[in-house]
Amino acid sequence: MTAEKAQHNKNIEKFHCSSKFGSFFGVSQQVFDSVWDRLTSPDGNSVAYVSMEIGADPDVFHPVKTILQQQKIRKSSDKELQQLLTKYLSGPRKIPNYSGGLGVLAGDTLKSFADTHIPVLAVSLLYREGYFSQFVDSEVGQIDQATSWSPEDTPTLFKLTDPENPGHPLEITVPFYNEYDHHTEAKAQVWMKLEVSEKLDYFVPEFLLDYAIPSSPPWVREAGLRLYNATSAIMKANQRRMLGTAILPLMQALGLTAQTIHLNEQHGVAVTLQLILRHLEKTLGPAYRVEMTDADILAAAQKVAQKIVYTIHTPVKAGHDRFDRSLYTGISQDTCQQILNLLATDEESPSQYNFTALAMRVNRAVNSVSRLHRDVTRRQFPDFAEKITAITNGVHHLTWISERRAKLFDTTTTLAGWRDDPGVFTHALLTHDKGFCKQLAAVWQQDNQVLIRYINNMLISHRNQMIETWINPPNYFSHLHDVVELSENVFTIGFARRFSTYKRADLIFDNIATLSDILLENNWKVNFVFAGKAHPQDEPGKTVLKLILDKQEELYKRSNGLAKLVFIPGYDMKIAKMMVAGVHTWLNSPKRPLEASGTSGMKAAINGVPNLSVMDGWWVEGYHEGKTGWKFGYEGPIQEDSLSEDPATLLYKEDSRSFYELLPKVLTLFYEQQDKYLQLAINNLLLNIPIFNTHRMAAEYVRKYNLDLNEETASRITGFQRLYRSEPAEKH
Ligand SMILES: *Cc1c(COP(=O)(O)O)cnc(C)c1O
Repeated sequence: MTAEKAQHNKNIEKFHCSSKFGSFFGVSQQVFDSVWDRLTSPDGNSVAYVSMEIGADPDVFHPVKTILQQQKIRKSSDKELQQLLTKYLSGPRKIPNYSGGLGVLAGDTLKSFADTHIPVLAVSLLYREGYFSQFVDSEVGQIDQATSWSPEDTPTLFKLTDPENPGHPLEITVPFYNEYDHHTEAKAQVWMKLEVSEKLDYFVPEFLLDYAIPSSPPWVREAGLRLYNATSAIMKANQRRMLGTAILPLMQALGLTAQTIHLNEQHGVAVTLQLILRHLEKTLGPAYRVEMTDADILAAAQKVAQKIVYTIHTPVKAGHDRFDRSLYTGISQDTCQQILNLLATDEESPSQYNFTALAMRVNRAVNSVSRLHRDVTRRQFPDFAEKITAITNGVHHLTWISERRAKLFDTTTTLAGWRDDPGVFTHALLTHDKGFCKQLAAVWQQDNQVLIRYINNMLISHRNQMIETWINPPNYFSHLHDVVELSENVFTIGFARRFSTYKRADLIFDNIATLSDILLENNWKVNFVFAGKAHPQDEPGKTVLKLILDKQEELYKRSNGLAKLVFIPGYDMKIAKMMVAGVHTWLNSPKRPLEASGTSGMKAAINGVPNLSVMDGWWVEGYHEGKTGWKFGYEGPIQEDSLSEDPATLLYKEDSRSFYELLPKVLTLFYEQQDKYLQLAINNLLLNIPIFNTHRMAAEYVRKYNLDLNEETASRITGFQRLYRSEPAEKH
């Protein structure tokens, strides 16, 4: 047998597993058993990571898929292997259960936990109508439609069966109290997905709770259909409860023993109420509901806090769940309200429960998602200022570095091992490596071509669709009689993220005349490529999106055709990956300090794309003057109205003026000093990859978990911890 063939067989072996889970997902028996043993071990030495949304499209990144592709295995007579091929090589495999940064961060985090062998399981909900699908019409703006997808037809999801009732799905029972203290039960099926490590030697299971089954009450089924369904307060409250209250029943049903619960945002915080009640039952006995005093509750909360790690993601008010107390009297027990009355009080709004306040009170560690966000969070929650620390977000470098760039890194000797350890960039001497610079320029150009061709095809297909559908093509260029295309190698600015007012997508179009004059004076061509969804209930967000469409014609005409602004509908991870690698700069124009971290800019940076950004979120840490990109806009102290989203406080005039002052410098560099522009890219690789990756971030979280790790894992984690300290003052 040739060595190659032997290797091939060895690789196939990796995918075989006698456990039906293992063979379903493509991990070996040994790997499956060792991870599962850890997660079910009586010592509870593992973490349950709870998130309302998880974004991890197998189409964008999946190690099993990558290995099959690298091996050039396309077909196999081996039945199990053929199943894996079908599962991972024929797409799309997207699970549309994420809305934006929070979900994508969760997915990236879980992938890094898997890569670094941290014992974690994840819990989220399964939304059968997903997050909505976005259509965009030039007259109407965004049109939202439920996404139709079916977990039954999604081969990367495994529906758990009931060990006591073989052949039937496992159903977990989640207790609810409804209509004034009436006990009800919600039932959920459980779908499992694995985030597998890059080497297929570890995994993190995700459990997605699916309440849309006949045995659940109709109101539960409905509340679980769409992510962030906010058509009514009660719908929203129920969706939160369906996440938080299911964690313990789920873990119990599967024998999972995690002693630490990580709340990725406060959405799942209801778990603390259950834990407090359990603790009271244990200490006070069966009559605890009548006997418990406020002091008992506070003491129990202190105990429970030892289990909870909490990450707060935003200073924006809409991100903090508040519910009317009167609503809660209708949907919970008296005992629950007694706890909430003590722990979820809201000084600003005494008639409401504040669930951010609850999460703030009941935890062992709480972190913000960047240094600046830490300072803002401390200001917002002065009572907890001391315990609020920073763990700056990251992105999963293996997911977000474009395939072409990754290939270049793979063949660069000084970058050996970059896949396992993004820290290798710190010491790589690339700055004067002419060969590397040239190759980087070449792959960047190719990634730009891919993006521009995608857009040009899109413009044509929208034009054709117009004949068949009632949708007016979103882009001006699809309406013109003569075909107008975007050109490659033209300076391309990318902007893509959720459309929220504070993100100010339209900031740089505040003064089209000024913008056009800058381009006309120098005959500079610019492509502006925009994408993003506004939450279906966010009318102001939708207005901003419509404004982008409305500016297209004016900008094109005033700039005499130099500026072309296009909008790509249906933003998702796939479009994100193409954009961050294909543009020449990544624009971020939020109102400081409302962008707690932002991660799309990191995705650009790790591809070497310089950021053009307001000094907010992660950029405060990733910006190095003259080296990694540019800053513009207000940078002064945080003031009273800094946290307001009121239109009058959004600083459009000031910050757009600052952008127009900066723009000529950026364009001069791009069009006249290509070498210097390329140096910015190199600097981003060297300075920002080692920091803004989720391996480093996961390692910082591990510090908060108190896990007992084996020596090998512990030393690897220590290595990642050394890459950066989000909290420089912290003693270790
Ligand atoms: C990365 C990402 C985001 C987050 O972008 P921000 O800059 O943090 O707002 C949102 N949506 C998708 C699809 C992403 O990939």
